[in-house]
Amino acid sequence: MYKIIQTIVPVSRSTFGSLCSRSSSTGGFSIKLNDEQREMQDLAKKFTRDEIIPKAAYYDKTGEFPYDVVKKAHSVGLMNLSLPQEYGGTGLNCLDSCLVVEELAFGCSGIQVAITSSGLAQSPVILAGNDQQKKKYLGRLAEEPMFAAFAVTEPGAGSDVNGIKTRAEKKGDEWIINGQKMWITNGGIANWYFVLARTNPDPKAPASKAFTGFIVEANTPGVTPGRKEMNMGQRCSDTRGITFEDVRVPKENVLIGEGAGFKVAMQTFDKTRSPVAAGAVGIATRALHEATNYALQRKTFGIPIAQHQAVSSLLADMAISVETGRLIWMKAAFEEDNDSQNRAYYASIAKCYAADMANRVASDAVQVFGGAGFNSEYPVEKLMRDAKIYQIYEGTSQIQRLIVAKSLIAEAKRRI
Ligand SMILES: Cc1cc2nc3c(=O)[nH]c(=O)nc-3n(C[C@H](O)[C@H](O)[C@H](O)COP(=O)(O)OP(=O)(O)OC[C@H]3O[C@@H](n4cnc5c(N)ncnc54)[C@H](O)[C@@H]3O)c2cc1C
Repeated sequence: MYKIIQTIVPVSRSTFGSLCSRSSSTGGFSIKLNDEQREMQDLAKKFTRDEIIPKAAYYDKTGEFPYDVVKKAHSVGLMNLSLPQEYGGTGLNCLDSCLVVEELAFGCSGIQVAITSSGLAQSPVILAGNDQQKKKYLGRLAEEPMFAAFAVTEPGAGSDVNGIKTRAEKKGDEWIINGQKMWITNGGIANWYFVLARTNPDPKAPASKAFTGFIVEANTPGVTPGRKEMNMGQRCSDTRGITFEDVRVPKENVLIGEGAGFKVAMQTFDKTRSPVAAGAVGIATRALHEATNYALQRKTFGIPIAQHQAVSSLLADMAISVETGRLIWMKAAFEEDNDSQNRAYYASIAKCYAADMANRVASDAVQVFGGAGFNSEYPVEKLMRDAKIYQIYEGTSQIQRLIVAKSLIAEAKRRI
């Protein structure tokens, strides 16, 4: 068990918390939580303290899926955060979901992903599904603690989504899917998948018309999840490859229509990158919290290391990074909740900044801990391992920079 975790009084971390209110009350971006948001945040904070922190080390060590924690999260309404209330979900907007995600990630981002990552597969259905699809597939997830998975990446194509090779061919009233997906979160436990497949065999067809999004029931013959991958961090999250072999999908399970899949998949990221950024800020907040506590307890040369200017300066830089990271996910979530034309731009800035920042801050926390930081009996090496994935999934930090640069340059050209 972690030695330092046991000495934590989680409530004290409110020192680091800066909060934000929904724009609708003010007409613009402001930093103040309303009562409802505070209640939701407090619920997530309490759940993290009571249910996540005590079990984080166990699930990190064993890599087991944290079903018991997920079931409790479902029972208190912390699971299907963005799923609309009319289909049984909690119905939070992007900003409010992020508030919850940040709190849960403070406890363990692996368990947080287990609780909230179905949202990535729900988003295409929320965005593009018809009422029947929503009732059937979203409703099901709300009733019981069930999972969905977003299956886009393949062994040969991650960043280059246009390069995916999974094919779907229309035969009568059905589509037949063949292909291989890789690194799919919830791959082995999902009840259904959002699957992106090429439906236009012409390699010159533009991405915007070449792909179709399907809802595929996990128990369909021909769907075979691979082994659970053993990852560097977020180890209890279920990541797998999935093979699709002559998988028959009824035409009713196409989202919007043939050729609309790429756009649906990309629009999904506008919604989900802010929560990913909030998760990274949760890790960084925890790293700062642990490092500050440790720096007050650990003495060298007769004084707590916090009194050495080099250490306090490191802590100050970590605090500056955490606060800035929180502000940028808030801004991105605000843009998303207000249907701003700039939402993809801000979502990418938030995801990129928070991911890079969490890696820096977690590494600095290890530095503050000295030798103990490198040891798995103390909490910060886990944070460093967990932080790395934020620079990779839902678009790498390099891809986020490409998106930001593309928007920036397009806007500059418009002005010339
Ligand atoms: C734990 C985990 C969970 C995941 N969950 C899911 C999931 O649920 N669903 C899903 O569909 N996918 C998932 N992924 C896949 C993830 O989104 C991809 O791994 C990621 O998009 C990168 O793709 P890749 O691994 O193929 O790397 P590549 O695309 O091969 O990239 C390799 C390197 O090259 C860089 N690079 C690539 N192209 C460019 C470029 N044009 N300019 C500059 N640099 C570039 C990348 O930034 C990276 O550093 C998950 C991955 C992991 C590890």
